[in-house]
Amino acid sequence: MLKDQDRIFTNIYGTKDKSLKGAMARGHWDGTKQLLEKGRDWIVNEVKASGLRGRGGAGFPTGLKWSFMPKESDGRPHYLVVNADESEPGTCKDRDILRHDPHTLIEGCVIASFAMGANAAYIYVRGEFIREREALQAAIDECYDAGLLGKNNKLGYDIDIYVHHGAGAYICGEETALLESLEGKKGQPRLKPPFPANMGLYGCPTTVNNVESIAVTPTILRRGAAWFSSFGRPNNVGTKLFMMSGHVNKPCTVEEAMGISFKEMVEKHGGGIRGGWDNLLAVIPGGASCPVVKAEDMMNVTLDFDGLRDVKSSFGTGGMIIMDRSTDIIKAIWRISAFFKHESCGQCTPCREGTGWMMRVMQRMVTGNAQKREIDMLFDVTKQIEGHTICALGDAAAWPIQGLIRNFRPEIEARIDQYTANAMDHGAVLEA
Ligand code: NAD
Ligand code: SF4
Repeated sequence: MLKDQDRIFTNIYGTKDKSLKGAMARGHWDGTKQLLEKGRDWIVNEVKASGLRGRGGAGFPTGLKWSFMPKESDGRPHYLVVNADESEPGTCKDRDILRHDPHTLIEGCVIASFAMGANAAYIYVRGEFIREREALQAAIDECYDAGLLGKNNKLGYDIDIYVHHGAGAYICGEETALLESLEGKKGQPRLKPPFPANMGLYGCPTTVNNVESIAVTPTILRRGAAWFSSFGRPNNVGTKLFMMSGHVNKPCTVEEAMGISFKEMVEKHGGGIRGGWDNLLAVIPGGASCPVVKAEDMMNVTLDFDGLRDVKSSFGTGGMIIMDRSTDIIKAIWRISAFFKHESCGQCTPCREGTGWMMRVMQRMVTGNAQKREIDMLFDVTKQIEGHTICALGDAAAWPIQGLIRNFRPEIEARIDQYTANAMDHGAVLEA
């Protein structure tokens, strides 16, 4: 189990003073100016060497992403954009950073902006996060008052931070839809490439990073890349905020070392499965877009980017949705398909039409009012959507259904048999 002294987030439960004074007393904002004096290249190289991978779900190497920003200015301003549009069901870590430990993010914004030659950073906060954005704005105001932000500040690097309020669309968490929304347009994803480092906000070089990815960088630089990469295993290093919701005795957000086993995570931090391990049915390991995994397959799983591959799922945001045997798993996955249908921006046909089609078939699977051959047809449709859309929402809608069919086919078939038997009892004429 990670020791307290190795935790980057020192106030994730909001039990301590979150003000600038309190954050400084806990070691944040310590030697920030000296870190900037080491230069842009040193910062980017140190973040690269730390092995930090994006904490928003995709796991793209953070230092590498920073290195894509042009080193010299061609006259266009550079921007840092922080994605605080946290909306993936099962995911609630950035929210805790914003409301309880906002100075980790603000200090990270200063350092990342400096490293990428940006003098403005925009933090795009999910519309529903009202208290979170108030806490963040209050912390930013404190920093302006203390001379840590703005022009001619004490750190010697001009930087302004703006908080932008989202309006409640999940798709605006996709980085290019977020940029469109920031520009005042309808939040719809752009085709990539070009990637934001070449053509981002207002057509200027931009890096979009998740809240946690930015918030951990000051501590990585203070304690060293080697310290951070000493946790976990190659390609999967560092500490990370994990989340457990659903049928554990103590649902929580907790910072742990990458590579902790699922069993240890549940036992040490989740207080065990409600009703004991035998009562566990399934787990969605990293937010709603990750395929559901059967209980027995989770028993030897390591929680990191590579650890879920063997069970045909993914690590995502580290937000685990834990379901015991009281769960109607078919209904749970139908509910997820309804979510993605609702959140599809409608821009590309496979996603716009496919999410609605899948949801309607799933709805019939819930009652059993379906034919068994439709299970394969549904799986085929998920394959037609996966990889054929502009953004990852199409994949995200397809994967949970694939996971359900791979792992819980007997349950779906039993539901259809039950419906058929009931219909026969009532004398219905059934299609062959
Ligand atoms: P992605 O793999 O397309 O991109 C990840 C990041 O890497 C992006 O910033 C992208 O610009 C960059 N990148 C990728 N390839 C690149 C290249 N060749 N050159 C330059 N930059 C490159 O994934 P994505 O669509 O950004 O994110 C999908 C993930 O988001 C899913 O896995 C899901 O877990 C997660 N997600 C999280 C939330 C949340 O609330 N945290 C919500 C929805 C989805
Ligand atoms: Fe919009 Fe869906 Fe296409 Fe993404 S995949 S651009 S959400 S229609």
